Amino acid sequence: MLNSRTKLYGVIGSPIAHSISPKLHNGLFRYYGLNAVYLAFDVKDIAEAFHGIRGLGLGGVNITLPYKERTLGLVDKVDADAEAVGAVNTVKNNGGILYGYNTDVFGFEETLRRIDYLGKEITVVGAGGAARAVIYALYKLGVKRVNLMNRTMDKAAKLREQFERIIEIDCHRLDAAHVVGHTDVLINATSVGIDGISLPVDIAPMGKGWVVDIIYFDTPLVKKARSKRLDAINGMVMFVNQAIRSFEIWTGIKCSECLALSLLGEKV
Ligand code: NAP
Repeated sequence: MLNSRTKLYGVIGSPIAHSISPKLHNGLFRYYGLNAVYLAFDVKDIAEAFHGIRGLGLGGVNITLPYKERTLGLVDKVDADAEAVGAVNTVKNNGGILYGYNTDVFGFEETLRRIDYLGKEITVVGAGGAARAVIYALYKLGVKRVNLMNRTMDKAAKLREQFERIIEIDCHRLDAAHVVGHTDVLINATSVGIDGISLPVDIAPMGKGWVVDIIYFDTPLVKKARSKRLDAINGMVMFVNQAIRSFEIWTGIKCSECLALSLLGEKV
């Protein structure tokens, strides 16, 4: 029931038509009987969009590609995770003051809790915004050193520099087979595989351990890992947990992972 008291939330990105966030958040608003609605906004000018958030009094928004980094400079306050990662994916409008959070970090921490990662050889593939959230989550959960593979070595070096005080990072090219061969936990934090065809790295040398993809469906990498009898997990756990945390920031309600997954029609 929409009326003059309905609170508006949404996700801002470009492109955005593929987003499953509206399905999840509208499902949660309905489940908890909240008078609120969540829409997807395909935005070309993020600074203009922030005038809109303030001017129209939206309750909050999620931010996705390509605006998570730019949003850091558009909010009034940021939490520790957003500051450390250098990116915001959740904004709460508190009476005209905009608070920025990074709930991707929490989402990935929840993924890691399912995996035997402590004391293991960990390799992160990718050096974009998501890789930074992944590496910061690894640091928060006690990991001291990781390998980092990326197509563009400059970007890998910048990421290493950003985190050098808190975690040791060894940078490698995507074809560093010896690194993959020694890896116990390989994490894909690139967008490679979203086409359902491509593989970010060749995992043939990997003989044991876990493959984690942060893309939220079974990518060719995840399927390949399972075919080699490696343990594998896709990004759905990260996705629902970043959303659960955003929802809690906006409403104060902490919903279960079970509920969030079932609203998306995912296996619980
Ligand atoms: P981003 O900042 O644009 O970074 C993209 C990364 O992918 C970079 O490391 C880039 O390498 C690499 N890459 C892109 N195309 C490539 C190609 N053809 N070959 C090799 N490497 C390539 O993006 P992001 O924000 O980090 O997001 C990455 C992925 O994470 C997206 O698919 C996003 O949907 C997913 N994600 C999932 C969740 C979740 O909740 N499950 C949360 C956040 C993000 P270069 O540095 O060489 O360009």
